[in-house]
Formats: sequence, structure tokens, C-alpha cells
Amino acid sequence: MMTLSNRIAQLRQSLPSQIRLIAVSKTVSVEKIRLAYEAGIRDFAESRLQEALPKLTMLSDLDDICWHFIGTLQANKARKILETFTWIHSVHNLAIAERLDRLATDLPQKPHICLQIKMLPDANKQGWSVPELEADLAALADCQHLNIQGLMAILPLGLTPEQRLTTFQATQELSQILSQKTSLCFTELSMGMSDDYLEAIAAGATMIRLGRIIFGDRESSDSIP
Ligand SMILES: *Cc1c(COP(=O)(O)O)cnc(C)c1O
Repeated sequence: MMTLSNRIAQLRQSLPSQIRLIAVSKTVSVEKIRLAYEAGIRDFAESRLQEALPKLTMLSDLDDICWHFIGTLQANKARKILETFTWIHSVHNLAIAERLDRLATDLPQKPHICLQIKMLPDANKQGWSVPELEADLAALADCQHLNIQGLMAILPLGLTPEQRLTTFQATQELSQILSQKTSLCFTELSMGMSDDYLEAIAAGATMIRLGRIIFGDRESSDSIP
């Protein structure tokens, strides 16, 4: 069996060097996170605040980790999420963006934000539809305390590789179009998970979020927000 560190080395080698590889460590023990850190990973993502807080405390000696939040954002946890994570990929509507903007006034640094977009209808996921996002662009550009950096996409299950590629390409094109329409600068594209990261990279992803392919299958039945 390949060790975690071999797996990470092999994966890193197969990726274009400019791709930011984010290890999704939800349900993963702090021991395994340390191993991934030793293998060179510096970006980790969690999807639940309650799970992340004790893990971050136990890992606080690794002070150059950049923590990313990728889970469902609940309004009552927004402040703590802002204080805990450098990046928030899962901002999914204007109300939560405006709430984060108000709360971020007090922060020493602007949080890095991705806007979660649904390119295809998906009842199981949150996010803007394309017309909804276009309607909210001006209000988002007014969120002066947020550093809005780009889009985040999660594909619905059951697409063919071909459909995955075209949907990711459409996301990339959308981010170009949106950049021209507002003062916001959509330079980042957070898309690609264990089953679809190759298509995401081919379509121009800048950040990929990989869990199972790094850490192995998660034990708990864990739903992806
Ligand atoms: C769990 C999760 C991932 C990682 O999924 P894998 O299939 O394990 O690579 C990526 N993004 C989000 C938003 C997730 O919730």
C-alpha cells in the first residue's frame, strides 16, 4: 500500500505547478493531517466549524497552515468562521455575503472569498444560479471588507467526464464574463474534487479541493454541502 506521503508526492508531481492543492481534511484525524503537512501540504479545508475548532487547536503549532472553509455557512457561526479561516469558498447568497462583510469590519485582514455557483440545477446544494449571481453583482461589489476572489463550483453527481468538462468550462467562461461586468476581480476558480479534478484543471481551475484521493475513503457517511 502506498503511504500518504507517497500519494501526495505522486499527486503533486502530476499537477501543473500553479495549481493550489487543498487537502480536504473533514473527518480526517489530526495525526493524518500532520503526515500530510510533513509531506508538504499547507492548505487544508474543513466543512464543519465544530469539527474544525478542536483540530485547529491541536495543530496550532503548524502555524503556516492556511485553513479553508468549504461547508455550509450558517449565519450564527459566521463570526467564528471568519476568525478561524483565511479562505471561505462556500459563500452562497447575498444575505450571507453581506453578513460576512459587516462582521469583517473588525478583522485585521480581509477574508478571501469565493462565491458558490450552481451551473446546473442541484437541489442538494447551495449556491447562486447564474442569473441570481448576475443580479447580485453590484451589491457584492459593495462588500468592501471582503476580498472576493472568484467562483467555487461543485458539480451534481452522475455527469459523464464530457459533461463535467463542459460544465467546468462554462464556469470558467462565466468568471471571465463577470470580471468584465464589475469591479470585482475573479481570478480564482475553486473547482475539482477527487472524482473530477482532471476535468477541472483542463478547464482552468486554480484551486482544487481533494479529500478521498489524498486521505482515502471517509468512514462516516458524509454529505457534501
Ligand atoms: C468533501 C468535499 C470535497 C472533497 O471531496 P473528495 O471527493 O473527497 O475529494 C471538496 N469540496 C467540498 C465542498 C467538499 O465538501
